[in-house]
Amino acid sequence: MPQNILVLNCGSSSLKFAVIQPSTDTFVLQGLADRLNSPQAHLDYELNQSKQAQSLADNTHQGAIAAVIQVLADNQLLNTLLGVGHRVVHGGEAFSKSQLIQQESLAKLESLSHLAPLHNPVNILGMKAIFSLLPEIPQVAVFDTAFHQTLGESAFLYALPYEHYQQHGVRRYGFHGTSYRYVSQEAATRLNKPAEECHFLIAHLGNGCSACAVRNGQSVDTSMGLTPLEGLAMGTRSGDLDPGLLPFLCERLNLPLADIMSILNKQSGLLGLSGLSNDMREIQQAAQQGHIQANLAIEVFAFKIARYLGALAVSLPKIDALIFTGGIGENDRLTRSLVLEHLTILGFEIDGELNQTNGNHIGQITTQDSTLSLVVATNEELMIAQDTLSIIQ
Ligand code: ADP
Repeated sequence: MPQNILVLNCGSSSLKFAVIQPSTDTFVLQGLADRLNSPQAHLDYELNQSKQAQSLADNTHQGAIAAVIQVLADNQLLNTLLGVGHRVVHGGEAFSKSQLIQQESLAKLESLSHLAPLHNPVNILGMKAIFSLLPEIPQVAVFDTAFHQTLGESAFLYALPYEHYQQHGVRRYGFHGTSYRYVSQEAATRLNKPAEECHFLIAHLGNGCSACAVRNGQSVDTSMGLTPLEGLAMGTRSGDLDPGLLPFLCERLNLPLADIMSILNKQSGLLGLSGLSNDMREIQQAAQQGHIQANLAIEVFAFKIARYLGALAVSLPKIDALIFTGGIGENDRLTRSLVLEHLTILGFEIDGELNQTNGNHIGQITTQDSTLSLVVATNEELMIAQDTLSIIQ
Protein backbone atom coordinates (compact mmCIF):
# COMPACT_ATOMS: atom_id res chain seq x y z
CA MET A 1 0.00 0.00 0.00
CA PRO A 2 1.52 3.40 -0.96
CA GLN A 3 1.98 5.81 1.92
CA ASN A 4 0.89 9.33 1.11
CA ILE A 5 0.72 12.72 2.79
CA LEU A 6 -1.97 15.30 2.07
CA VAL A 7 -0.39 18.77 2.00
CA LEU A 8 -2.74 21.72 2.56
CA ASN A 9 -1.88 25.36 1.97
CA CYS A 10 -4.87 27.48 3.02
CA GLY A 11 -4.76 31.07 1.72
CA SER A 12 -7.25 33.83 2.45
CA SER A 13 -9.51 32.85 -0.47
CA SER A 14 -7.83 29.73 -1.80
CA LEU A 15 -6.70 26.24 -0.86
CA LYS A 16 -3.74 24.63 -2.59
CA PHE A 17 -3.46 20.91 -2.00
CA ALA A 18 -1.37 17.94 -3.03
CA VAL A 19 -1.18 14.25 -2.24
CA ILE A 20 2.50 13.35 -2.14
CA GLN A 21 4.35 10.08 -1.71
CA PRO A 22 7.44 11.36 0.11
CA SER A 23 9.43 8.13 -0.26
CA THR A 24 9.51 8.60 -4.04
CA ASP A 25 8.94 12.40 -4.27
CA THR A 26 5.83 11.61 -6.33
CA PHE A 27 2.93 14.06 -6.61
CA VAL A 28 -0.08 11.74 -6.89
CA LEU A 29 -2.67 14.51 -6.96
CA GLN A 30 -2.37 18.28 -7.10
CA GLY A 31 -4.97 21.00 -7.15
CA LEU A 32 -6.40 24.34 -6.18
CA ALA A 33 -9.71 25.45 -4.71
CA ASP A 34 -10.06 29.10 -5.63
CA ARG A 35 -12.41 32.06 -5.06
CA LEU A 36 -13.52 30.58 -1.76
CA ASN A 37 -16.34 32.35 0.07
CA SER A 38 -17.74 33.57 -3.26
CA PRO A 39 -20.39 32.11 -5.59
CA GLN A 40 -17.63 31.41 -8.16
CA ALA A 41 -15.79 29.02 -5.83
CA HIS A 42 -14.40 26.08 -7.76
CA LEU A 43 -12.05 23.15 -7.40
CA ASP A 44 -9.47 22.14 -10.03
CA TYR A 45 -7.12 19.22 -9.74
CA GLU A 46 -4.88 16.95 -11.74
CA LEU A 47 -4.81 13.22 -11.19
CA ASN A 48 -3.11 10.66 -13.45
CA GLN A 49 -2.31 13.42 -15.94
CA SER A 50 -5.99 14.20 -16.31
CA LYS A 51 -7.38 17.60 -15.32
CA GLN A 52 -10.72 17.81 -13.51
CA ALA A 53 -12.82 20.79 -12.44
CA GLN A 54 -15.94 21.16 -10.34
CA SER A 55 -17.81 23.99 -8.68
CA LEU A 56 -18.10 24.04 -4.91
CA ALA A 57 -21.59 24.00 -3.44
CA ASP A 58 -20.14 24.72 0.01
CA ASN A 59 -17.74 27.57 -0.81
CA THR A 60 -16.04 27.78 2.61
CA HIS A 61 -12.54 26.48 3.42
CA GLN A 62 -14.22 23.66 5.33
CA GLY A 63 -16.38 22.90 2.27
CA ALA A 64 -13.35 22.90 -0.02
CA ILE A 65 -11.46 20.51 2.27
CA ALA A 66 -14.51 18.22 2.43
CA ALA A 67 -14.60 18.24 -1.39
CA VAL A 68 -10.88 17.38 -1.56
CA ILE A 69 -11.41 14.48 0.85
CA GLN A 70 -14.30 13.27 -1.32
CA VAL A 71 -11.98 13.33 -4.36
CA LEU A 72 -9.47 11.25 -2.37
CA ALA A 73 -12.20 8.80 -1.35
CA ASP A 74 -13.51 8.49 -4.92
CA ASN A 75 -10.02 7.67 -6.16
CA GLN A 76 -9.06 5.12 -3.48
CA LEU A 77 -6.51 7.52 -2.00
CA LEU A 78 -8.09 8.13 1.37
CA ASN A 79 -6.88 4.83 2.84
CA THR A 80 -3.31 5.59 1.67
CA LEU A 81 -3.10 8.74 3.81
CA LEU A 82 -0.63 8.65 6.70
CA GLY A 83 -0.99 12.27 7.70
CA VAL A 84 -1.81 15.83 6.75
CA GLY A 85 0.85 18.56 6.57
CA HIS A 86 -0.23 22.19 6.78
CA ARG A 87 1.72 25.17 5.58
CA VAL A 88 1.44 27.77 8.33
CA VAL A 89 2.62 31.28 7.61
CA HIS A 90 3.58 32.52 11.07
CA GLY A 91 5.03 30.52 13.95
CA GLY A 92 6.24 33.59 15.88
CA GLU A 93 8.93 32.72 18.44
CA ALA A 94 6.84 29.80 19.69
CA PHE A 95 7.64 27.43 16.81
CA SER A 96 11.21 26.94 15.66
CA LYS A 97 10.48 23.74 13.78
CA SER A 98 7.65 21.73 12.30
CA GLN A 99 5.32 20.32 14.91
CA LEU A 100 2.63 17.69 15.47
CA ILE A 101 -0.68 19.49 15.99
CA GLN A 102 -3.14 18.35 18.63
CA GLN A 103 -6.37 20.00 19.71
CA GLU A 104 -4.39 21.61 22.60
CA SER A 105 -1.88 23.18 20.15
CA LEU A 106 -4.58 25.20 18.45
CA ALA A 107 -4.80 27.76 21.27
CA LYS A 108 -1.02 28.39 21.04
CA LEU A 109 -1.37 28.87 17.29
CA GLU A 110 -4.40 31.12 17.70
CA SER A 111 -2.38 33.35 20.03
CA LEU A 112 -0.11 34.14 17.04
CA SER A 113 -2.89 35.13 14.66
CA HIS A 114 -2.35 38.87 15.21
CA LEU A 115 1.09 38.44 13.57
CA ALA A 116 -0.45 37.19 10.31
CA PRO A 117 -4.16 38.06 10.46
CA LEU A 118 -4.85 37.21 6.82
CA HIS A 119 -3.14 33.83 6.90
CA ASN A 120 -2.89 32.13 10.29
CA PRO A 121 -6.65 32.06 11.00
CA VAL A 122 -7.33 30.24 7.72
CA ASN A 123 -4.41 27.86 8.37
CA ILE A 124 -6.10 27.01 11.67
CA LEU A 125 -9.47 26.59 9.91
CA GLY A 126 -7.79 23.92 7.77
CA MET A 127 -6.59 22.05 10.88
CA LYS A 128 -10.04 22.22 12.49
CA ALA A 129 -11.62 20.89 9.30
CA ILE A 130 -9.28 17.87 9.34
CA PHE A 131 -9.92 17.28 13.08
CA SER A 132 -13.62 17.05 12.31
CA LEU A 133 -13.48 15.21 8.96
CA LEU A 134 -10.53 12.86 9.53
CA PRO A 135 -10.13 12.71 13.33
CA GLU A 136 -7.80 9.69 13.24
CA ILE A 137 -5.24 11.24 10.88
CA PRO A 138 -2.22 12.98 12.49
CA GLN A 139 -1.55 16.56 11.46
CA VAL A 140 1.71 18.49 11.28
CA ALA A 141 2.24 22.24 10.97
CA VAL A 142 5.21 23.48 8.92
CA PHE A 143 5.97 27.16 9.46
CA ASP A 144 7.31 29.71 6.94
CA THR A 145 9.08 31.48 9.79
CA ALA A 146 10.62 28.50 11.61
CA PHE A 147 13.86 28.27 9.61
CA HIS A 148 14.71 31.86 10.57
CA GLN A 149 14.45 31.31 14.32
CA THR A 150 18.26 30.90 14.29
CA LEU A 151 18.71 34.62 13.50
CA GLY A 152 20.70 36.48 16.16
CA GLU A 153 19.47 39.64 17.85
CA SER A 154 21.55 41.92 15.64
CA ALA A 155 19.70 40.57 12.63
CA PHE A 156 16.20 40.27 14.09
CA LEU A 157 15.83 43.39 16.26
CA TYR A 158 14.51 46.65 14.85
CA ALA A 159 16.14 49.74 16.35
CA LEU A 160 12.92 50.59 18.17
CA PRO A 161 12.26 50.93 21.91
CA TYR A 162 13.17 47.46 23.23
CA GLU A 163 9.89 47.07 25.11
CA HIS A 164 8.01 46.82 21.80
CA TYR A 165 9.90 43.58 21.20
CA GLN A 166 9.35 42.36 24.75
CA GLN A 167 5.70 43.30 24.99
CA HIS A 168 4.41 42.93 21.44
CA GLY A 169 6.86 40.60 19.70
CA VAL A 170 7.90 43.38 17.31
CA ARG A 171 10.94 41.90 15.55
CA ARG A 172 11.98 40.53 12.19
CA TYR A 173 10.74 36.94 11.68
CA GLY A 174 11.39 36.25 7.98
CA PHE A 175 9.36 34.02 5.65
CA HIS A 176 9.87 31.48 2.82
CA GLY A 177 11.74 29.37 5.40
CA THR A 178 10.45 26.06 4.04
CA SER A 179 11.79 26.95 0.60
CA TYR A 180 15.18 28.02 2.02
CA ARG A 181 15.51 24.80 3.97
CA TYR A 182 14.65 22.71 0.90
CA VAL A 183 17.00 24.46 -1.53
CA SER A 184 19.84 24.52 1.04
CA GLN A 185 19.58 20.75 1.38
CA GLU A 186 19.39 20.29 -2.40
CA ALA A 187 22.38 22.55 -2.99
CA ALA A 188 24.42 20.83 -0.26
CA THR A 189 23.71 17.48 -1.92
CA ARG A 190 24.88 18.86 -5.27
CA LEU A 191 28.05 20.21 -3.68
CA ASN A 192 28.54 16.86 -1.97
CA LYS A 193 28.91 18.51 1.43
CA PRO A 194 26.94 18.16 4.68
CA ALA A 195 24.38 21.01 4.91
CA GLU A 196 25.90 22.08 8.27
CA GLU A 197 29.13 22.95 6.48
CA CYS A 198 27.54 25.07 3.75
CA HIS A 199 27.32 28.85 3.47
CA PHE A 200 24.76 30.13 0.99
CA LEU A 201 23.13 33.29 -0.23
CA ILE A 202 19.65 32.43 -1.51
CA ALA A 203 17.24 34.57 -3.52
CA HIS A 204 13.68 33.22 -3.51
CA LEU A 205 12.01 35.15 -6.33
CA GLY A 206 8.35 34.31 -6.94
CA ASN A 207 5.32 36.55 -6.53
CA GLY A 208 6.65 37.16 -3.05
CA CYS A 209 10.42 37.69 -3.03
CA SER A 210 13.00 37.47 -0.29
CA ALA A 211 16.65 36.65 0.24
CA CYS A 212 18.47 34.79 2.97
CA ALA A 213 21.98 34.19 4.29
CA VAL A 214 22.54 30.58 5.36
CA ARG A 215 25.60 29.96 7.52
CA ASN A 216 26.50 26.38 8.47
CA GLY A 217 23.10 25.31 7.19
CA GLN A 218 21.21 27.81 9.38
CA SER A 219 19.47 31.05 8.51
CA VAL A 220 21.42 34.00 9.96
CA ASP A 221 19.77 36.91 8.15
CA THR A 222 16.89 37.45 5.78
CA SER A 223 15.17 40.31 4.00
CA MET A 224 11.55 39.92 5.19
CA GLY A 225 10.63 41.17 8.64
CA LEU A 226 7.65 41.28 10.98
CA THR A 227 5.51 40.88 7.86
CA PRO A 228 6.33 39.77 4.29
CA LEU A 229 6.31 43.40 3.13
CA GLU A 230 9.91 44.18 4.12
CA GLY A 231 12.90 43.67 1.87
CA LEU A 232 12.99 43.16 -1.90
CA ALA A 233 10.59 44.59 -4.45
CA MET A 234 8.03 41.86 -5.27
CA GLY A 235 5.18 41.20 -7.71
CA THR A 236 2.87 43.73 -6.06
CA ARG A 237 4.67 44.59 -2.78
CA SER A 238 6.98 47.56 -2.42
CA GLY A 239 9.57 45.99 -0.13
CA ASP A 240 11.76 48.38 1.92
CA LEU A 241 10.91 52.04 2.01
CA ASP A 242 11.28 55.07 4.22
CA PRO A 243 8.71 54.81 7.06
CA GLY A 244 8.34 58.58 6.72
CA LEU A 245 6.61 57.84 3.44
CA LEU A 246 3.50 56.60 5.25
CA PRO A 247 2.34 59.91 6.79
CA PHE A 248 3.58 61.72 3.67
CA LEU A 249 1.37 59.62 1.38
CA CYS A 250 -1.60 59.74 3.79
CA GLU A 251 -1.47 63.50 3.62
CA ARG A 252 -0.69 63.96 -0.07
CA LEU A 253 -3.22 61.40 -1.28
CA ASN A 254 -5.69 62.22 1.48
CA LEU A 255 -6.15 58.54 2.22
CA PRO A 256 -6.30 56.59 5.49
CA LEU A 257 -3.37 54.37 6.45
CA ALA A 258 -5.29 51.23 5.48
CA ASP A 259 -5.49 52.46 1.87
CA ILE A 260 -1.80 53.33 1.80
CA MET A 261 -1.00 49.83 3.11
CA SER A 262 -3.12 48.39 0.35
CA ILE A 263 -1.06 50.37 -2.20
CA LEU A 264 2.18 49.05 -0.67
CA ASN A 265 0.93 45.45 -0.63
CA LYS A 266 -1.16 45.20 -3.78
CA GLN A 267 -0.26 47.96 -6.22
CA SER A 268 3.49 48.36 -5.87
CA GLY A 269 6.56 46.29 -6.78
CA LEU A 270 6.78 45.11 -10.39
CA LEU A 271 3.13 46.03 -10.96
CA GLY A 272 3.47 49.56 -9.62
CA LEU A 273 6.72 50.36 -11.38
CA SER A 274 5.78 48.86 -14.74
CA GLY A 275 2.19 50.09 -14.61
CA LEU A 276 1.43 46.87 -16.49
CA SER A 277 1.55 43.62 -14.58
CA ASN A 278 2.95 41.78 -11.58
CA ASP A 279 3.92 38.89 -13.86
CA MET A 280 7.59 38.94 -14.86
CA ARG A 281 6.90 37.18 -18.17
CA GLU A 282 4.54 39.95 -19.29
CA ILE A 283 6.95 42.63 -18.12
CA GLN A 284 9.82 41.04 -20.05
CA GLN A 285 7.71 40.87 -23.18
CA ALA A 286 6.74 44.54 -22.89
CA ALA A 287 10.35 45.54 -22.18
CA GLN A 288 11.49 43.77 -25.34
CA GLN A 289 8.96 45.85 -27.26
CA GLY A 290 10.46 49.02 -25.85
CA HIS A 291 8.09 49.71 -22.92
CA ILE A 292 10.17 52.10 -20.82
CA GLN A 293 8.48 51.50 -17.46
CA ALA A 294 8.65 47.73 -17.92
CA ASN A 295 12.38 48.04 -18.44
CA LEU A 296 12.67 50.26 -15.38
CA ALA A 297 10.74 47.76 -13.27
CA ILE A 298 13.20 45.00 -14.23
CA GLU A 299 16.22 47.20 -13.48
CA VAL A 300 14.92 48.32 -10.08
CA PHE A 301 13.85 44.78 -9.16
CA ALA A 302 17.30 43.35 -9.99
CA PHE A 303 19.24 46.16 -8.31
CA LYS A 304 17.35 45.74 -5.04
CA ILE A 305 18.05 42.00 -5.07
CA ALA A 306 21.77 42.60 -5.62
CA ARG A 307 21.91 45.29 -2.94
CA TYR A 308 20.27 42.97 -0.40
CA LEU A 309 22.50 40.05 -1.31
CA GLY A 310 25.51 42.30 -0.76
CA ALA A 311 24.17 43.21 2.67
CA LEU A 312 23.40 39.59 3.55
CA ALA A 313 26.92 38.51 2.56
CA VAL A 314 28.37 40.25 5.64
CA SER A 315 26.86 37.44 7.75
CA LEU A 316 28.85 34.71 5.96
CA PRO A 317 32.50 33.64 6.33
CA LYS A 318 32.52 32.68 2.63
CA ILE A 319 30.02 32.02 -0.15
CA ASP A 320 29.76 28.39 -1.26
CA ALA A 321 27.00 29.40 -3.67
CA LEU A 322 24.43 32.04 -4.47
CA ILE A 323 21.23 30.16 -5.20
CA PHE A 324 18.34 31.43 -7.34
CA THR A 325 14.95 29.83 -6.77
CA GLY A 326 11.18 30.54 -7.15
CA GLY A 327 9.38 31.16 -10.47
CA ILE A 328 11.59 34.10 -11.45
CA GLY A 329 14.80 32.73 -9.93
CA GLU A 330 14.39 29.40 -11.70
CA ASN A 331 13.35 30.74 -15.11
CA ASP A 332 14.24 34.34 -15.67
CA ARG A 333 17.69 34.58 -17.23
CA LEU A 334 17.66 38.36 -17.47
CA THR A 335 17.04 38.95 -13.76
CA ARG A 336 19.81 36.50 -12.85
CA SER A 337 22.31 38.10 -15.21
CA LEU A 338 21.47 41.65 -14.04
CA VAL A 339 21.82 40.60 -10.39
CA LEU A 340 25.17 38.91 -10.98
CA GLU A 341 26.47 41.87 -12.99
CA HIS A 342 25.86 44.05 -9.92
CA LEU A 343 27.76 41.57 -7.74
CA THR A 344 31.21 41.43 -9.36
CA ILE A 345 32.50 42.75 -6.00
CA LEU A 346 31.64 39.30 -4.59
CA GLY A 347 33.49 37.53 -7.40
CA PHE A 348 30.54 36.55 -9.59
CA GLU A 349 30.93 36.11 -13.33
CA ILE A 350 27.99 34.73 -15.25
CA ASP A 351 28.37 32.03 -17.90
CA GLY A 352 25.98 33.23 -20.61
CA GLU A 353 25.37 29.78 -22.08
CA LEU A 354 24.75 28.06 -18.76
CA ASN A 355 22.45 30.90 -17.70
CA GLN A 356 20.53 30.50 -20.94
CA THR A 357 19.77 26.87 -20.10
CA ASN A 358 18.77 27.72 -16.49
CA GLY A 359 21.92 25.99 -15.30
CA ASN A 360 21.19 22.87 -17.31
CA HIS A 361 20.95 19.83 -15.01
CA ILE A 362 23.58 20.73 -12.47
CA GLY A 363 22.29 24.25 -11.97
CA GLN A 364 25.55 26.17 -12.28
CA ILE A 365 25.24 29.48 -14.15
CA THR A 366 28.68 30.97 -13.44
CA THR A 367 32.11 30.44 -15.04
CA GLN A 368 34.71 28.11 -13.54
CA ASP A 369 36.69 31.02 -12.03
CA SER A 370 33.65 32.75 -10.56
CA THR A 371 32.12 32.48 -7.11
CA LEU A 372 29.52 29.77 -7.69
CA SER A 373 25.90 30.59 -8.49
CA LEU A 374 23.28 27.86 -8.90
CA VAL A 375 19.67 27.60 -10.00
CA VAL A 376 17.80 25.20 -7.69
CA ALA A 377 14.09 24.47 -8.11
CA THR A 378 12.23 24.84 -4.84
CA ASN A 379 9.57 22.39 -3.68
CA GLU A 380 7.86 23.59 -0.53
CA GLU A 381 5.06 21.00 -0.75
CA LEU A 382 7.56 18.14 -0.86
CA MET A 383 9.42 19.59 2.14
CA ILE A 384 6.10 19.77 4.05
CA ALA A 385 5.30 16.16 3.11
CA GLN A 386 8.78 14.99 4.19
CA ASP A 387 8.53 16.84 7.51
CA THR A 388 5.05 15.45 8.13
CA LEU A 389 6.14 11.90 7.45
CA SER A 390 9.24 12.11 9.63
CA ILE A 391 7.32 13.67 12.55
CA ILE A 392 4.42 11.22 12.53
CA GLN A 393 6.74 8.26 12.23
P1 ADP B 1 4.47 32.10 -6.06
O1 ADP B 1 5.25 33.02 -5.18
O2 ADP B 1 3.05 32.48 -6.22
O3 ADP B 1 4.70 30.63 -5.76
P2 ADP B 1 6.08 31.55 -8.42
O4 ADP B 1 7.25 31.03 -7.65
O5 ADP B 1 5.33 30.60 -9.27
O6 ADP B 1 5.07 32.36 -7.52
O7 ADP B 1 6.65 32.72 -9.35
C1 ADP B 1 5.81 33.51 -10.14
C2 ADP B 1 6.68 34.48 -10.95
O8 ADP B 1 7.58 33.71 -11.75
C3 ADP B 1 5.88 35.36 -11.88
O9 ADP B 1 6.38 36.68 -11.87
C4 ADP B 1 6.18 34.73 -13.23
O10 ADP B 1 6.10 35.66 -14.28
C5 ADP B 1 7.59 34.27 -13.04
N1 ADP B 1 7.97 33.29 -14.06
C6 ADP B 1 7.50 32.03 -14.24
N2 ADP B 1 8.03 31.47 -15.34
C7 ADP B 1 8.85 32.40 -15.89
C8 ADP B 1 9.69 32.45 -17.05
N3 ADP B 1 9.79 31.41 -17.87
N4 ADP B 1 10.39 33.58 -17.28
C9 ADP B 1 10.30 34.63 -16.46
N5 ADP B 1 9.52 34.67 -15.36
C10 ADP B 1 8.81 33.57 -15.08
